[in-house]
Amino acid sequence: MKPHVAFLPSSGMGHILPLFQLAKHLVLHHGFHVSFLVITTEASAAQNHFFQSAAAVSPDLSVISLPPADVSGIITGDMRVVTQISIIARESIKPLKPILIDLKPISLIIDIFTTDAIDVCRELSIPVYSFFTASTLLLTFSLYLPTLDREVEGDRLKYAARIFLNAWEDLDIDRIKALKENNFFQNIPTPPVYSIGPLIKDEENLTENDSEILAWLDAQPCESVIYVCLGSGGTLSSKQLTELALGLEMSRQRFILVARRPTDTSASAAYFNVGGDENEPSKYLPDGFVERVRGVGLVVPSWMPQLAVLSHPSTAVFLSHCGWNSTLESLVRGVPIIAWPLYAEQRMNASMLVEEAGVAVKVATDGGDGVIGREEIEKVVTAVMEGEQGEGIKRRAKELKESARKALENGCCLNDPFAKLLGRTRARPQSETTSFHS
Ligand code: UDP
Repeated sequence: MKPHVAFLPSSGMGHILPLFQLAKHLVLHHGFHVSFLVITTEASAAQNHFFQSAAAVSPDLSVISLPPADVSGIITGDMRVVTQISIIARESIKPLKPILIDLKPISLIIDIFTTDAIDVCRELSIPVYSFFTASTLLLTFSLYLPTLDREVEGDRLKYAARIFLNAWEDLDIDRIKALKENNFFQNIPTPPVYSIGPLIKDEENLTENDSEILAWLDAQPCESVIYVCLGSGGTLSSKQLTELALGLEMSRQRFILVARRPTDTSASAAYFNVGGDENEPSKYLPDGFVERVRGVGLVVPSWMPQLAVLSHPSTAVFLSHCGWNSTLESLVRGVPIIAWPLYAEQRMNASMLVEEAGVAVKVATDGGDGVIGREEIEKVVTAVMEGEQGEGIKRRAKELKESARKALENGCCLNDPFAKLLGRTRARPQSETTSFHS
């Protein structure tokens, strides 16, 4: 009988996609059976897209939707994204125990927001592995800062049997080495850390709309297009979206702009839209914008075939919110980044990409009213597309692409010892899950 592992990502696509990629590897390359439990939120283009393609992978990969939790009385519009995702996760995994008793997996793989599952798994003697889907920098930060630990329930993290990290050594050598050797935290018990990345999703199955976008890219010169997309749920205020659109237009560069409906209800300009996708750019972009830029700029209302766009030879630069998956996808494809961080740990990622990895430039922060002006956007876009600064980050992106390729060739996440880690059939005794070092 095939070893059976269950996965439990939290609701954002930035968590679902990397865990699903790992699940696919275990099924397709290591003979596992996987039950992939999905926390369902309001229907969105992103989740619909995922469910359509996930169902067809293999009969050994069962995608199971958890019953939607009613969070209407708990979540309020002004709550921070991290708090919202944590609450949705906490409420949605309340029925987890009977589900696990029924499925009987030999281990469970969680992410940072589904740590409530650890208590249930300890009761059932199911070992838990945590796949940390963000950067090494955030992992070290989460393990270190007790305050942050409390906020994101990171203290649970230490009860995982292992932590898998979606990074590779060349990207963050000092931190990863220190984590592996447990040099960081003399007094803080930390489970063994394995870097298994860069694990990015496979190229998507293209819809008719996607093919039109790629046909548009085919018609553009090599490395001439700026791809602008702020993750699976990032939205801007109306004013900020107007400035971004006009800044791109003023730069006279070619671009693809994913223009989701702006959100003005949030206290901050940056908001994560986990709900529906009623987008129609001509209604909320500046008057006449879509027509004026036609031929030079392509405006898309919501979900993009991101990996296909990043792989396309016409794509020069990614203007990104620096979510960790988008970051890895860009680096694996050798595309430099204009960093526009919005929320969660994205500012931290952006600083690391600019100051340490040297593969990005950051849009300057606003002058005080929370909005980045069109002149700044024009300036940074022109500098990257035409200036020396752009040359530097393009060169560095190509180097990192090569080092990512080598890391994948050596196959951290594909190799047998990794699969054996999960394939142990014996339940770990409680003492083992808390003693951390094998
Ligand atoms: N993504 C996509 N099309 C889009 C927007 C996002 O395919 O239009 C994918 C992207 O390729 C990445 C994920 O959604 O795999 C976003 O994850 P990330 O960690 O970058 O950001 P988050 O959405 O969690 O903020």
